Parts: sequence; C-alpha cells; structure tokens
Amino acid sequence: MNGHVELILFLSVGTCLLAGLALLWEWRIHREPAAGWWGLAFVSSATGACLFPLRALGHLDLLSIGISNALFILSYCAIAAGVATFLGRRASLLVIAAPSAAWLVFWGIAPQAADFDTRVVVMSAVTACLSACTAWIAVSANAERLIRALGVVMVLRTGFFAVRCLWASEALGALSDPQRGFGFQIVVIEGVWTSVLLGYLMLAALREKRDTALLKLAETDFLTGASNRRCFQVSAEGALRQMPTRGVAILMMLDLDNFKRINDACGHAFGDTVLQRFAEIVRERLGRDDIFARLGGEEFAVMIRGDADASRATALAESIRADFQRAMLGAHIAGVSPTVSIGIAASHQARTLETLLALADRALYQAKANGRNRVEHARTEFPAPDFAEPARGHDTLLEAG
Ligand code: GH3
Ligand code: MG
Ligand code: MG
Repeated sequence: MNGHVELILFLSVGTCLLAGLALLWEWRIHREPAAGWWGLAFVSSATGACLFPLRALGHLDLLSIGISNALFILSYCAIAAGVATFLGRRASLLVIAAPSAAWLVFWGIAPQAADFDTRVVVMSAVTACLSACTAWIAVSANAERLIRALGVVMVLRTGFFAVRCLWASEALGALSDPQRGFGFQIVVIEGVWTSVLLGYLMLAALREKRDTALLKLAETDFLTGASNRRCFQVSAEGALRQMPTRGVAILMMLDLDNFKRINDACGHAFGDTVLQRFAEIVRERLGRDDIFARLGGEEFAVMIRGDADASRATALAESIRADFQRAMLGAHIAGVSPTVSIGIAASHQARTLETLLALADRALYQAKANGRNRVEHARTEFPAPDFAEPARGHDTLLEAG
C-alpha cells in the first residue's frame, strides 16, 4: 500500500507542476496577477511534496518537515491571494508570507512540533482555516460562476481538513497505526483531486475573464466608451423582445449639431473631445438598465427599456440637451457652440427596432428642420409605404420642411 502512496505522491507532484507551469505561462503572456499567484501556489505545493519523502532519511527534518510544510502553507495563501487579485482586490505580501513564517517559528521552537500527531493537527487546522478564508473571498464577492465554483471546492477542502484535524487529535477516538497510514493516503488523494479541479477552474476563469474583456472591447466605441452599433442592435432587440406586455421602451436618437463646422474650425482633436464630453454627460444621466450607443460619427442612440414613460424620456432628453449646451458655452466656435438635437419614439408606435429607429430618426430630422438644439417626438406610426422608404438625408428633409 505504501508503494501506492509514493505513486500517488508522484502523480500529485506532476499534476501540481504542470498546472503551476501552465498558470505561470499564462501570467507571463497576459500579465494577469492572479495567474502569477496561482502558478506560485502550485509550484510551491509541488516543491513541498518533493521534499516530503526526504523525511525517510531522518537527518533532513528542516527540509522535509519545516520547509515542506511552510511551502504547503504558502501555497494555500497564494491561492487566496490569486482569488483576491482576480476579483480586483489587493493582496499583501506580508499577509501571504506570515502564516508560513508562523509555522516555521512553531516548528523551530515548540517541542510539540516533534510529535507527528500534533503536526498533523496543526497543519490540518491551518489548511482548514486558510481554505475557509479563500472560500469566503471567492463566494462572498460578486464573483463569476467559475470563481464561486472554486469557492465551493475550498469549502469541501475546509470540511475535509477540519475532520482530519478532529481525527488526528483523537477527538473521534484513539488512532491505530494502520488508521494513520490510511489517513495519509486519503490526504494525498484529496491533494490530487483538488489540484486537478483547482487547476482547471483557475485556467478556465482566466480564459473567461479574457474573453469577457475582448467581447467588451468588441462592443465598445473606443473614443467615447459608449456601446457600438452592433452591440446596440443586439441589446435593443433583446430589450424589445423581453419587454413586459404593458411596458413601453423609449428610443432617442441624438445628433450633434453643425459638427462638421466645429471640426473644420477647431480640428478633429477638439471634435473628439466634444464627443467624449457629450458621452459623459449622457452616461451621467442614464440608469444601469438604459442602453447607450454611438451609432457612428456624431450620432448616438439611447434606449430606456421596460416601463419608461414619455414624460421621463422628455425630461431626460431636455436635461441632456440643456446640460450639453451649458457645458459647451465656453467653446463658441466660428459663430456656433456645440449643441445636440434629439428625436424620440416610443415602442407602442412601432413593432420592430428598425421601425422604431426610423421613427426616432424622423423626429430627429424634424428637430434639425425646426432649428436644431431641440427635442422632438415622433408624431405617429409610419404609414405602411414608408417602411420600405430609404433613409433620408438632412437636406431632403430640410427641403421638405
Ligand atoms: P447637422 O447639424 O445637420 O447634424 O450637421 P453636422 O455637421 O453635424 O453633420 P454632418 O453629417 O454634415 O457632419 C458630421 C461630421 O462629423 C463630419 C465628420 O467629419 C465628423 N465626425 C465623424 N466622426 C468623427 C469623429 O470620430 N471625430 C471627429 N472629431 N469628427 C467626426
Ligand atoms: Mg450632426
Ligand atoms: Mg449626423
């Protein structure tokens, strides 16, 4: 049976080393601090497990007991530090190193540390406590499901080592030597299973985080931080589909006035600043559920979903218009200061996003035709032939107006 333990120990070292190297590689390429902490955790755990068999030699206790256990403790702390940094918190080096240092002090000065059973009790208690801390960080935060799954693994580990602590302390009855041997085998098997699970969850969580960041990048307008047109299309269609039967979604189209003239007079860089400031003003006034996107150039859209009412939408549009005008008063350029025109349509006026956009667009052009720097509402649903009509340019409408 002991031969089996060595084999499992060998497997455990290999698993930890592979997971550690994969995580350190991930850290080297993507510079995600959590990958670095988790890589360190696996490598220090593998090193601790390598030192462990040296205790058979008898005269290398410092390495095989002192340092080996200190590395295991460091590994548990590094897992916790990785979870904390993954969730955007800070990890203090002092806090991470302190439990290992405390163990070394205990082992160095306490005569009880010479007793195998006492060491098992202490190490099991430390492992249970550190695993509980990691589980608490992973589950208490508003974390992704993979990190919460990692938290659940740590809860299981806490339970396992709490039972082992009670068992080794003989609180559950006196222990025989075969029982000690069996306990050790179970610990090594738990180590292999947990390492495989943790390694998988960590690598998957890192990948998911990267994918989410890339998706966000692909859906965001670089200049203003608003969603881009593609994202708007998907979110707004989803919002219309999920709307309660009696709900009303409001769509606003917002277009900066005379922007070409502002660009021509002050340069593109200044135009960019105006676009950014405008996006800030809109974002400050929107709720979490509202959708805000830059459709292109100096044209933006806002969708207030669910249970919006027309008066709130009008008040919101008016405040965006007035606040932007006020914010831009200082920038009086070539006879104009930047302002915005807004067209509003409500979902009960249209059945599809396409129609709603066309209605809001028409209201926007009405605002342009009526002198700009104003808010206009779509008067009615499009008559049937207009659905197929190609989008009109300002000039056509201005001429029509
Ligand atoms: P209107 O009041 O009728 O809307 O007139 P306008 O000048 O705002 O509209 P027009 O469509 O004629 O011009 C839009 C300008 O927006 C032209 C383009 O150079 C500028 N523009 C588009 N994208 C950007 C951008 O990312 N940065 C800057 N600075 N300008 C941009
Ligand atoms: Mg414009
Ligand atoms: Mg435009």
